[in-house]
Amino acid sequence: MTQDDYNRWANYHAALFGFTTETDAAMFEAWFYAFNLACYSAAELMEVSNWMATTDQKPAPGLNLRERHLLAIRQRVTALRLQFRQAQQEGGSRDDWSACSTCSGKGLVVVPNPRSIVDDLWVNSRTCAVACACTAGERLYQSNVASAQKDRRHRPPLRLTDYEVRFPGWREMFGRKARECSAFDRASTASREVSRLAKKTQAPI
Ligand SMILES: [Zn+2]
Repeated sequence: MTQDDYNRWANYHAALFGFTTETDAAMFEAWFYAFNLACYSAAELMEVSNWMATTDQKPAPGLNLRERHLLAIRQRVTALRLQFRQAQQEGGSRDDWSACSTCSGKGLVVVPNPRSIVDDLWVNSRTCAVACACTAGERLYQSNVASAQKDRRHRPPLRLTDYEVRFPGWREMFGRKARECSAFDRASTASREVSRLAKKTQAPI
């Protein structure tokens, strides 16, 4: 999911439920990193928002409104994915998707965007999807190649195997990014604290 796709969803969800304060913007940023690590897609999130807007949520004692939203989003995406898996099984496609721990049978894997990698460092949080090395991924890749032959505007995704040759350390990049983000959060809190203390003593810094 790209930052743009995510922002479109975040604006939609914020408008739908009135999460429009300055602190909400920081909350949506934090959600983005979590959702990306869990490989949520913008389509899944849109579906969840629409579902939440039209369905009474179960009470979740001890959680505030925004925590309840986060929980509901996680639970709903999980439920949607399990439904997808069930439908695949019932549809008789029992390929090796269940064995694929990389893409969970979806055929697509979210990876750091090559355009955002400079000297093996992932400099922003942009991602892109590549075709997995499993049967589901290969099928998806081939169907994209077929569409690209019909319409030249369509470009098939990269293959994970090719991507990994160029960026063998991509899996570690996610962990590093998460650590980097929490370090910056702490740095930011420390910076805010300095300003707060400065205001208290009225000494301009
Ligand atoms: Zn796979």
